[in-house]
Amino acid sequence: MYTNPQSHIGHWVDNEARRSVGGRSSPVFDPAFGDVVRHVDLATRDEVNAAVASAVAAQAKWGALPAQRRARVLFKMKELVDKHADDLARLITREHGKTFPDALGEVQRGLEVIEFACGVPQLLKGQYSDNVGGGIANWNQRMPLGVTAGITPFNFPFMVPMWMAPVAIACGNAFILKPSERDPSPSLLTAELFREAGLPAGVFNVVQGDKVAVDALLNHPDVHAVSFVGSTPIARYIYETAARQGKRSQALGGAKNHMVVMPDADLEQAADALIGAAYGSAGERCMAISVAVAVGNIADDLVEMVKARAQKLNINDGEAPGADMGPVVTAAAKARIEEYIASGVEQGAKLVLDGRGLTVPGRACGYFLGATLFDQVKPGMKIYDEEIFGPVLCVVRVETFADAVALVNSHTFANGVACYTSDGRTAQEFAQKIQVGMVGVNVPLPVPMAWHSFGGWKQSLFGDHHSYGEEGVRFYTRYKSIMQRWPDSGSKGPEFVMPVN
Ligand code: NAD
Repeated sequence: MYTNPQSHIGHWVDNEARRSVGGRSSPVFDPAFGDVVRHVDLATRDEVNAAVASAVAAQAKWGALPAQRRARVLFKMKELVDKHADDLARLITREHGKTFPDALGEVQRGLEVIEFACGVPQLLKGQYSDNVGGGIANWNQRMPLGVTAGITPFNFPFMVPMWMAPVAIACGNAFILKPSERDPSPSLLTAELFREAGLPAGVFNVVQGDKVAVDALLNHPDVHAVSFVGSTPIARYIYETAARQGKRSQALGGAKNHMVVMPDADLEQAADALIGAAYGSAGERCMAISVAVAVGNIADDLVEMVKARAQKLNINDGEAPGADMGPVVTAAAKARIEEYIASGVEQGAKLVLDGRGLTVPGRACGYFLGATLFDQVKPGMKIYDEEIFGPVLCVVRVETFADAVALVNSHTFANGVACYTSDGRTAQEFAQKIQVGMVGVNVPLPVPMAWHSFGGWKQSLFGDHHSYGEEGVRFYTRYKSIMQRWPDSGSKGPEFVMPVN
């Protein structure tokens, strides 16, 4: 089992691990040590084509099974993921860097989508109208699309694939996963667990790779839908390319999530929430809060409270007991975040806490950054306009609630947002006026439950459907309307008029 990955990570096709013959590979790091721990194969176009052919062959039979038989495989998968939660979390921590308890939380949130998909017979139930005229019955069915693909980011190597695969598979599709090349190991353990759960060969395949693999999936005529989660430029590319090929696509992009803190909020609670939401997982969450909007005269107090808490964070190897925050994913990510910090200083923001230059004893080469806090940040600064995706929190000061709403609504990203207040009317107005896909009131990370669907607005999502939940069922099925009549024998002659009652 892939609980202890080898020096090379390959693909998974027809329920078997496969090594690439193309010869291209990419290094995989342990970010806490800064070492290359293994290499991941990068699929060629032919290897992707082989995975698609396997999926096409498997899907016809899988899609024709009664939905409850497909659901039984997911019930078994739920049991297995539960049993192997620690194994999955350990793989995540070693390749991503996030703390082990946080990785366990990721596994749990992925598991919840599997639980949701176990109810697929109910979700696929059609609508039926008896005797719409002349003894005809009319009903709708949700049909699988065929072969579907998912391209996923590094920051949730188990949870995000689980936003897609369980729902796609439960609906009768085959699914091909192209995970992030930065933390590929959880994808193979997931594949092994699907096999053990009884999923037939070819229904869940994994191709490791980069743009070559992604383009091969996007351009393959037998891939009918592409789900993507990652950065906005790639999300836009995926959506546009898929649409040009006549494929269905949902492409979730980047984020810049604000937390509006009202003067009537419990500031201690708001500061605690900011610390967890800004620095948890080293800020490498698409729902991380990266901007605190201090309304009225609370900014000085709020900045002091956040600073005091941030200075106490335990930053360490994700498996170290008591670690609050691990390293960022790669040396390149660390360098990019440091550049943003330098640009914030250059553009006139006040650097309250500088996370650069942190070293962790025994992990001197790890990609660690300390919690970074900026005050006096303004729109137009790169650290405000762009997604940093690291442990950097920006405080913007505004005078009124209306200013805060206008600020959030003018940002190009619109994934998640939160408002801390003790006033119900403010909360109600905020929830209605804010133009963001996922809203929290006194909830810093409003990640929707498995049955409520996940998605942002504006540059944070390209496509018509949010991910998982009933939106996922709609995305992974197409509607068919059937009319049926069993007439008495004997000809009644042809009809030339549009049938009406
Ligand atoms: P990324 O866009 O670099 O990579 C995502 C996937 O796209 C990976 O599988 C990668 O191999 C592939 N890819 C990268 N470059 C490509 C190219 N030029 N052509 C085709 N495919 C390419 O994102 P990442 O760094 O892995 O993840 C972080 C980003 O993901 C952040 O922007 C974060 O906000 C976003 N994210 C969004 C959500 C959401 O739900 N909106 C969730 C998680 C992460």
